[in-house]
Amino acid sequence: MRHAVALGAMAGRGEKRAGGLRHAPLVPSPAMLHKPVMATTTGDVEKDGAPAGAWRGTLRAAARAVVDYALPPRCPGCGIIVGEDRQFCLTCWSSLHFLDGPCCSRCSIPLPAALLGGPTMCGACLASAPPFEGVPAAVAYGPVARTVALRLKYGRRTGHARLMARLMARHLATLGDIDAMLLVPVPLHRWRLWSRGFNQAALIADELARLTGAPRDHHLLLRTKATASLRGKGRRERDRIVAGAFALAGDGKARAAGRHLVLVDDVHASGATLRAAARVLGRSGAAQVSALTWARVVPEALMTSNIFDFASLDSDMASEG
Ligand SMILES: [Zn+2]
Ligand SMILES: [Zn+2]
Repeated sequence: MRHAVALGAMAGRGEKRAGGLRHAPLVPSPAMLHKPVMATTTGDVEKDGAPAGAWRGTLRAAARAVVDYALPPRCPGCGIIVGEDRQFCLTCWSSLHFLDGPCCSRCSIPLPAALLGGPTMCGACLASAPPFEGVPAAVAYGPVARTVALRLKYGRRTGHARLMARLMARHLATLGDIDAMLLVPVPLHRWRLWSRGFNQAALIADELARLTGAPRDHHLLLRTKATASLRGKGRRERDRIVAGAFALAGDGKARAAGRHLVLVDDVHASGATLRAAARVLGRSGAAQVSALTWARVVPEALMTSNIFDFASLDSDMASEG
């Protein structure tokens, strides 16, 4: 069970993660809004006692000041100028709905707080267990979460992968021992990879690996079939469309044996893609299969605040396309 995190505390102090990482806050504190550009050093010291990296830090700060002047950091949600790179403005930050509350132990769908101390699985998972153990997401899918994901995917704002990974990383620690994990980005079919030039899930997995130290394997899972859009399809039809879309790499069983495989993707919409991928990974001899995404479509009835317009859901957003 994941624990609620005080957003104000996160915003003000940054976070300390399982991997010992401390990162810059994602939303500005009042003091940071007017923070001067500081020279940074590598911290190493030469024999004469002078900081070896000081001049490099000064140069870096000067170069950054020039870049900041020309391209000031902008909020990834709405585009207004903010104090630090990859930082939300207060309006966008406060509109994000963080999925930190009680949830189903199998599919991670939010559960009413009234169920705390009661069953930890939702009705759907009790009726039919999904092929994974835990599918947390950092935030509920809403206008800001959607914009961030779209700008990464179609706007080539690849730096957004780091922002997303920062908010996803603490959920990784709730899934188990980081050292036993293997991050597996949901692969794109080679034609889509060729046309887009990158796989956004792989970029996020790279950043998660960098932040947490969890190992990753981009080639364990292959996408062997290009799939049609899942928009407007029922659950059975969606599952049929993505069935057979994935396969294990030739030596996948050896690479996955005994590991805790964690699928990584940008958006968890219907879950059909994650289920299909997890079923294939489940046949690899892995000890456990989970998944982690940036944003998840959560039924309005399960949201306690920040209710958004689900009609704005776009077919182009479904990463399952
Ligand atoms: Zn904003
Ligand atoms: Zn469930």
